[in-house]
Amino acid sequence: MVKKNDVVSLSYTLKNSDGVDLGKADAKEPMNYLHGVGGNIPGLEEEIEGLKVGDKKDVIVPPEKGYGDVDPKLFLKVARSNFPADMDIKPDMQFSSEMGGKENIFTVESIDGDNVNVNGNHPLAGQTLHFSLEILGIRDATEEELSHGHVHDGSHHH
Ligand code: ZN
Repeated sequence: MVKKNDVVSLSYTLKNSDGVDLGKADAKEPMNYLHGVGGNIPGLEEEIEGLKVGDKKDVIVPPEKGYGDVDPKLFLKVARSNFPADMDIKPDMQFSSEMGGKENIFTVESIDGDNVNVNGNHPLAGQTLHFSLEILGIRDATEEELSHGHVHDGSHHH
């Protein structure tokens, strides 16, 4: 049964309230995360707690237990000169920048003369998330994973 400090592997499909596909993970490339330490959104972790391998569940996660509401303060106009001169800036491009002491992902919305309009909200902010998931695996985390607070699955080393 899934409990704190387990590494959980799951497959899922994700849709919004309009039934639009927002993403998925399958058995070939499952989502792996360290349970109970904020490795996943709270609305999913709550519903996954106590499940066992093979369990399937439909979970609806409101924004406040998912990626939060859309924050209008995170729509920013940034001078083009703040970006490296040789960077080819295009809509939908993403970059990370530190904001308020934590790393934040920004998406370029549009280019407006000498300014670039960017959005620092998570792409899923403001969305009610409809997951249909299946638990594929549960294992104990290693000491190293526990000390890093995340899963090491093959390619990941730091
Ligand atoms: Zn690590």
